[in-house]
Amino acid sequence: MRVRPLAWQLPVVAALAGVWSAAGFFLWQSRVPSSLTLPSLDPGASFSAHVLSRTAHFERFLELSWVGQQVLLVAVFAAYAIWGARFMRESAAGRIGTGIFLAMMGFALTWFVQVPFEILDNWWERRYGVSNLSYVSVVLGGWLSLGFTFLTLSVAVAIVMAIAGKLKQLWWVAAVPVFVAIALLQTFVGPYLVGGHPLRDDDPVLAAAARRIEHEEGLSGIPVDVLDVHSYTPEENAFSAGLGPSRKVVVYDTLLTGGLNERQLETVLAHEFGHQARYHLWKELGWYALFAFPEAFLVAFATRRRGGLFRPESIPVALLVVVLFNLAALPLQNVITRHYEAEADWMSLQTTRDPTAFAAVMRHFGTHDLSNPNPPTWSYILFADHPTLIQRIAMAKAWTARNR
Ligand SMILES: [Zn+2]
Repeated sequence: MRVRPLAWQLPVVAALAGVWSAAGFFLWQSRVPSSLTLPSLDPGASFSAHVLSRTAHFERFLELSWVGQQVLLVAVFAAYAIWGARFMRESAAGRIGTGIFLAMMGFALTWFVQVPFEILDNWWERRYGVSNLSYVSVVLGGWLSLGFTFLTLSVAVAIVMAIAGKLKQLWWVAAVPVFVAIALLQTFVGPYLVGGHPLRDDDPVLAAAARRIEHEEGLSGIPVDVLDVHSYTPEENAFSAGLGPSRKVVVYDTLLTGGLNERQLETVLAHEFGHQARYHLWKELGWYALFAFPEAFLVAFATRRRGGLFRPESIPVALLVVVLFNLAALPLQNVITRHYEAEADWMSLQTTRDPTAFAAVMRHFGTHDLSNPNPPTWSYILFADHPTLIQRIAMAKAWTARNR
């Protein structure tokens, strides 16, 4: 007697959804008090009309360019999913070799779509003085990252198709842990590849403050390095990287020379150490795994009519699913990163106890990094991986109200 599929699939799907939600709930935990309500602020009180219109104008062009690029990308990949398998030659390359060849073709299409937009974006950024890149380096400078993506994609396709050779339709169950392991390795190795030099060489006073902030956040042994970026970009930024022994806080040299005072720079460092203190890099890997399972399942589901990923002719369909999934997941991923950025801000306020310096940094970023302090909702949903500058200033005010 045949078992009706739903009879056993429903409980399995329900159990998986339960595990997914429980893991998501655990990863979502935050030090930001759930009772915290941000006051609604008038952007005009923190930013001049000139800054508000200039940043809005600057970002609008790049956002529209992005939308155009995505529409074209989806159209190209949809066409490739329909007709792409015609490029396939039953050659000496074999099953996996042919799959890699089809993935490379898709990758080449992406590149042709992207280059004109990158040139356009660079033209716009140069007009606003936020890019120092020449057009030649926009086109050619990407070769290294192009080669890296090329390699990553080939390895990914080889892994998936090799696993599909053994597990057939269930390849995704085994492939996701492999991809998570690769992502973990990349996060671990990353800090060793970024370079930089110790902060104490540039600013021993700030380096000493960094040690103090680190200890106050319950951390130790995390170096702060300075990265020389001023020849590529005047952008002022900092980030946290690494896992365990490879953990590192990196600040751009442009941030140190950008006009912020020591107290203000300390709030930036306290934010970055906050990412480490709250294990945000681990949590992001956790989310990567949580998104990878449904994504891989959808790829398996969508390609089954072409014989699943066991067959190379399903690769163009798989690429379309990946492109669509990543687009659909983008707003959700922004919600998650904004949540962690808000927690890092809260850690910074709790550690430095200087909301005035914190708010001054946010006003500085609005003026110097051309980030729109108060973007329209659609732009916030699609692009904002940090809370808006207005929300961040509002958090400083909310912190002050609680700690008065
Ligand atoms: Zn951050």
